[in-house]
Amino acid sequence: MNDSRSRVGFIGLGIMGSRMAANLARAGHELTVWNRTVEKAEAWVAEHGGIVAESPAAVGAASDVVISMVVDGAQVEQVLTGAGGVIEGAASDCLCVDMSTIAPGDTRRIGARLAEAGVRMLDAPVTGSSPRAEAGTLTIMAGGAPEDFALAEPLLRVMGDLVVHVGELGQGEVLKLINNAVAAVNATAVGEGMLLADAAGIDLKDFQRVLASGSAGSAMVDLKAKPMREHDYTPLFKLDHMLKDVRLCLEEAQAVGSPFESAGHAREVLAAAAGRGFGEQDFAALIEALEGYAGRRL
Ligand code: NAP
Repeated sequence: MNDSRSRVGFIGLGIMGSRMAANLARAGHELTVWNRTVEKAEAWVAEHGGIVAESPAAVGAASDVVISMVVDGAQVEQVLTGAGGVIEGAASDCLCVDMSTIAPGDTRRIGARLAEAGVRMLDAPVTGSSPRAEAGTLTIMAGGAPEDFALAEPLLRVMGDLVVHVGELGQGEVLKLINNAVAAVNATAVGEGMLLADAAGIDLKDFQRVLASGSAGSAMVDLKAKPMREHDYTPLFKLDHMLKDVRLCLEEAQAVGSPFESAGHAREVLAAAAGRGFGEQDFAALIEALEGYAGRRL
C-alpha cells in the first residue's frame, strides 16, 4: 500500500476538516467522507467529489487510511472505536490518522484498542488556523511508529508544509497542547497590553504596528490584535476549543511535574470569557473577560 494507490477516508468536515479534505481532493484523492451532520458531508461532496459514507464503520471498510478531525477525545473514541466506529469496518492493516487535538492519554488508549483489532494509529494534530488549513500550509506534528508515519507522510504533506515526526503515539498531541497553551498565554498578554495602551492614550493601530514589527511580534499579534480591537469574533478557532487545549496542557504539566503558571492564568481568562457566552466565538473574545477585569472597553 502506498499513497498513490491507498484509498483515503475522512471523518469530520468542520472548520478545519472541510478545508484539509478539500486539499486532498484537489491533489487527486477521491475521498470517502462522513460527518455527524450529514448535510455538510453532502455539500462537501457536491463541491469536491467523493462519496458520503453512512457511518464511520463504512468509511473504515472503504479506506486504507482514515483521517479524523473532530473536537475531543470522546468524539475520537466514538468515531474510531465506538459502536458503528471505524474499527467495525476496517481491514486489519488500516491506518487511522487522528488530526484532532485531544489528550495524549486518550490517544494512547484509543490506539491500544485499535491495535487489538490489528488497526494502526498515528496522531497528527495541526497548528495554524483555517486560512492555513485552506492553503495547505499547516504545521503538523505526528506521533506513532516510523512505518506508519512514512505511510501517512505524503498525505500529511498535502495538508501541511512543515510535517514533523516527534516520537511515539501521543507525542504529537503533547507538543500540540504545549503549542496552543503558549499561543493562549501570548494572546492573553496581547489583550492585556492593548488594554493598558488604550488606557494610557496610545492609538491601538500604532500599538499593533509597533508590536508586530518589534521584539513582541507574534502570530497572535498578527491574527488576534485586530479582531480584539474591533470585537470581531468570527470563529477561526473557537474559544471553547482553545480552553479545552489549555486545560489538557495543564493536565500534562501536572502529570510530568512541570510548572506552567502563565497557562493557568490564560485558562482562567478563557473560562471567564466562555462563562460570558463566547465559547462558540473565536478565542479573540478573551478580550471580553479582560475588559471585564479592567472595567473598561476598548
Ligand atoms: P469545528 O468546526 O467545531 O468542527 C468539529 C467537527 O467535529 C465537525 O465535523 C463536527 O460535526 C464534528 N463533531 C462534533 N461533535 C461530534 C460528535 N459528537 N461526533 C462526531 N463528530 C462530531 O472544529 P474545528 O475548528 O474544525 O476543530 C477540529 C479539531 O481541530 C479540534 O480538535 C481543534 O482543537 C483542532 N484545531 C482547530 C484549529 C482551528 O483554528 N480551528 C487549529 C488547530 C487545531 P458537525 O458538523 O456535525 O458539528
